Parts: sequence; C-alpha cells; structure tokens
Amino acid sequence: MDKKFKILTYGCQMNIAESERMAGQLSKIGYTMTEDIEAADLILINSCCVRSTAEDKIYGKIGELKKYKLQNPALIIGVMGCLAQKDGENLIKRSLHIDFVLGTARRGELPKIVESFESARKKFVDTSNVSGIVEDEIFPIRAGKVSAFVPIMYGCNNFCTYCIVPYVRGRERSRPAAEIFAEIKNAVDNGYKEINLLGQNVNSYGKDLGQENFAQLLSAVDKIDGIERLRFMTSHPKDLSDELISVMASGKNICEHIHLPVQYGSNKILKKMNRVYTVEKYLELVKKIRAAIPNISLTTDLIVGFPGETEEDFKLTLNFLREVRFDTAFTFIYSERSGTPAANFEGKVDDETKHRRLNELMTVQNKISLEKNLQFDGATVEVLVEGESKTDKNIYTGRTRSNKAVLFPHESENVGDLINVKINQVQTWIFKGVRAD
Ligand code: SAH
Ligand code: SF4
Repeated sequence: MDKKFKILTYGCQMNIAESERMAGQLSKIGYTMTEDIEAADLILINSCCVRSTAEDKIYGKIGELKKYKLQNPALIIGVMGCLAQKDGENLIKRSLHIDFVLGTARRGELPKIVESFESARKKFVDTSNVSGIVEDEIFPIRAGKVSAFVPIMYGCNNFCTYCIVPYVRGRERSRPAAEIFAEIKNAVDNGYKEINLLGQNVNSYGKDLGQENFAQLLSAVDKIDGIERLRFMTSHPKDLSDELISVMASGKNICEHIHLPVQYGSNKILKKMNRVYTVEKYLELVKKIRAAIPNISLTTDLIVGFPGETEEDFKLTLNFLREVRFDTAFTFIYSERSGTPAANFEGKVDDETKHRRLNELMTVQNKISLEKNLQFDGATVEVLVEGESKTDKNIYTGRTRSNKAVLFPHESENVGDLINVKINQVQTWIFKGVRAD
C-alpha cells in the first residue's frame, strides 16, 4: 500500500527549502505527499525556535497531533529543524507520541531513520555534530512552481547576542559550487523561472571552502540560461562587498532587491547586539548601493525591546527609518532565548513598552512604504505570474523584480509567464493593476 507523508513547516525560507528536500528524500523510500493530515502514515514537523512565539505554536501543534496517534497507532511522528536541535530528547520526554527527533545537520539521514523506525519501532534522537556536513538532496520536491529556493550555505558564525541560530544551525558551511549548479540546472530544466539563493549570511559564501566568494558565485549563476530572475538572502551589512554591488549593477537577471537587516538604529544597541557595524557605516553602505543601482528595493529586519533600550535609542531608530526609507521592514519584538548572551543582559524592557514601540515603529514604516509605493501608481511593471490569489480565483498574483506583490484580473496568462501590468491602486503591502501588454 502507498505510504503517505505530511510535513508541517514553521519558520523562515530556509525551513521551507529544507522541507522540500525532506519531501524529496521521502519520495525515494516509497512515500508520497498528502495534504490530508489524517491520511498520513508519517507526520514531520520542521520546526523553528528563533522567537518564543514560534516555539509555543509548535508545542501547541505537537499536542494536537496526539489525537492522530490515538486514531492510528502505526502513525510515525518526527520532529526536525531548529527546535528539534535545541530541545532534543526533551521533546520526546514531554510528548510521548513523538517517535524521533533529528537535529539540523542530521537531515540527510531522514530516510534511514524512517526505515529503521518502520521495522524496529524504536524511538530515536540524534542532534549530534550540529556543525557537521549536511548530506544534501539536490532533487527536492518544491512547493512552488515558479521560484526555486536553493540553499547555498548552512549555519552562521556571527553570534548576534540575541540570536539562537548559530547554536541550532552550527558553523557556516558552504555547499560546493558544482552541487549548487547541478541543482539550479535541474530546477531550470523543470520550468523554474526564478532562483532564490539562501543562507543565513550569503555574503560569507565560500570562505570555508577557500573557493569562489558570493559575488563570483552570483555572477556565475546569472550566466545560466533559462533563469529569468535571480534573488538571494540574507545579507549581513558587515559582509556586503563592493564586488557584490558591482555584480548586481551589471547583472543580467539579478533582481534589484537586497534584504539587509539592520536590527536597530542606535550605535549603543547595535554594539550590544554584536552587529559589528555602526549606523553611520550602514548609511554609507545604503548610499553606495543606491548610487550603483538606483532602482534598488531595500528591505530590512528590526527588533524592538532589546535589553537596555531607552526611549532615546528608540527615537534614534525612528529617525533612522525616516532617513533610510526602506521599502519594507519586518519588525519583531525581542524574544529572550536562553543560552544567548543577551538573555543575561540587564535593563529588560517591559511588555507594554515593547508593544507600544513596535506599533510606533510599524506606523512610521508603513507610512514610508505606502509613500514609496505611490511612486508606482500609474506605472507599468514587469510581473512574474505566480498563480491564483488566496481569495479569488479570477484574480492572479505575481511579483515585481523588486519583490512587491501585484494582484491583477486573470486573462489568459499562465503561471510562470512574465507580463506587464499597469498599476492602478497601491497599498502598503501590495499593488493592484491590469494587464498592459
Ligand atoms: N540570518 C538572518 C536572519 C536570521 S533570523 C540575518 O542575520 O539577518 C531572522 C530575523 O529574526 C533576524 O533578522 C532578527 O531580526 C530576528 N530575530 C532573531 N533573533 C531574535 C530574537 N531573539 N528576538 C526577536 N527577533 C529575533
Ligand atoms: Fe542570527 Fe546574527 Fe547569524 Fe543572522 S547573522 S542568523 S541574526 S546570529
């Protein structure tokens, strides 16, 4: 009988990419994917622990899964990803219906673990060697039809003081370029038009291999025939090189978008966060990028409520936002992660203040985002068609090269087409328009 699996994915694009790779691995041992969780013989949770909200949600979901195990005692439940790495065997101790826990660097062993559990039914935990090489899957089953996520490196060496990622993902490890090329060529052969290179800090690519650097890799990928759009994330401001800026400026299909998390707008807090750059350095970098690529879209991440944050620091951050004028900012409330240095810092900010500051920050940024989007009102933009919108099958959605979402009435276009859309309505997060070619 056909065996079915269901993967529940939490967290960032890296986790989405890794779930696609787990799906590829499982298909090789006779499993097929199902959307119906009740029909699954194997449920995998690909977990996140970057903030406590993610963790709470996942523990809630794990609790819910117990009922499926009661209905079907043969069901196999596994937990993988960052929370698996962090909590290890405590996950099984806390939730007895979990069968195995695999750490982030052990992902390549998934088929072996599932097969041995099928025969021996023996609970299993392995979170060892977090910085070990990940045996990778280069033929993943991708969730999207247009954009392919391709991890180019795993791990992080930066140890920002608030962040748990370096502990649950281990040290930076770059994938060999040949493997990356093989995966991209396969994606292009299968009709993918957009390639999205992923890493915690893509600008460190290659340092551990002593081979080509990220700018060189990006330039080489840009030469692959069949790619219409090339993106990458994330860039740490300290490592974004002049060489990369010039590769982007002269690129063929590299999209005019950089996600450049600043995290905060005061030097005092940046220093406590161990971000290594100053506000002035960041502004200089933005100036350089905008001079070389005038239509660049810049997005960022910000954290409010970091220990020691004063009203004055916060005001500096608001002013910083007004000065840079990002296209979009993803804003987070600081979440204390045990084991990170900041968990022991003095000057904790109370919840009410954190929420108030988050709202103020969002109000300032949303106004800027809307103002920037208004420049596109009436303009015609190139859109890569992604498919039906969530709410209306007659309305399709796609993205501009600058990564803004566009909604338009469906005519005859297909998923993956590049079309022109005339924008007639702009909002903070999306554009609306009609086909213009
Ligand atoms: N490697 C990427 C992204 C890491 S996690 C980078 O360095 O930019 C994604 C975002 O989550 C971070 O940019 C940061 O803004 C946020 N984040 C990380 N740890 C956090 C914490 N403890 N509390 C709140 N937000 C956090
Ligand atoms: Fe976390 Fe900093 Fe590494 Fe990003 S660069 S993953 S924020 S430690």
